[in-house]
Amino acid sequence: MALPLVLFDIDGTLLRTRGAGRVALDEAFAELHGWPDATEGVHIAGATDDVICQDVAARFGVKWAPVQTPALQARYLSALARLLTDPSRTERLPGIFELLDALAGHAHVALLTGNWSPGAAVKLAAAGLGGTFSWGVYSEDALDRDGLVPAARARAAALGLSVGEVVVIGDTAADVRCARAGGARVVVVETGFATPEVLAAAGPDLQVPDFAAGHGWILALVRGLAGA
Ligand SMILES: [Mg+2]
Repeated sequence: MALPLVLFDIDGTLLRTRGAGRVALDEAFAELHGWPDATEGVHIAGATDDVICQDVAARFGVKWAPVQTPALQARYLSALARLLTDPSRTERLPGIFELLDALAGHAHVALLTGNWSPGAAVKLAAAGLGGTFSWGVYSEDALDRDGLVPAARARAAALGLSVGEVVVIGDTAADVRCARAGGARVVVVETGFATPEVLAAAGPDLQVPDFAAGHGWILALVRGLAGA
């Protein structure tokens, strides 16, 4: 039987790291290229890590070559892991385990994130979510976030999962756009940097303060799709 596929964003949706991702990227660009405050003014929330590299390079008047990514990524991961050894830095947002328990048997669940997959793993582990999701789609799977829903459908098919409707859950207008681009429903949580007004203007199917407050609403939406 086809089940809905619910795709969870990471930053601002499952967890918060007080900007550790940006700090780690800045350290990595400074070490590798000598660029100071590399991500200043660069739109990070909702962007894939590969697009962030392109945008940072453009700020410094150069074109980012994908061949540069592994060296940058290694420095980024090292800085990120160091920053997140401080347990006060990472906050797991409320209600996620309860929501996943309630979705079990009613939906497939996976990650949909602009993080590189190793960075996602570092953040999830720091938030006590290591091993919670068995698969996902990442920056490596689509340069543009709008390509991530099709990538998730393809990954689900490759895994032999029968998927009906897709639901993206995120915290930015970029999550709403990527859901729409992929023909998915979209739920936004107000736990990221975006204001409730900005999120509402993006036109999600459902907007909730967080997973705890929105538990029943999200379940009703997903279970309604299970019969669709
Ligand atoms: Mg996010």
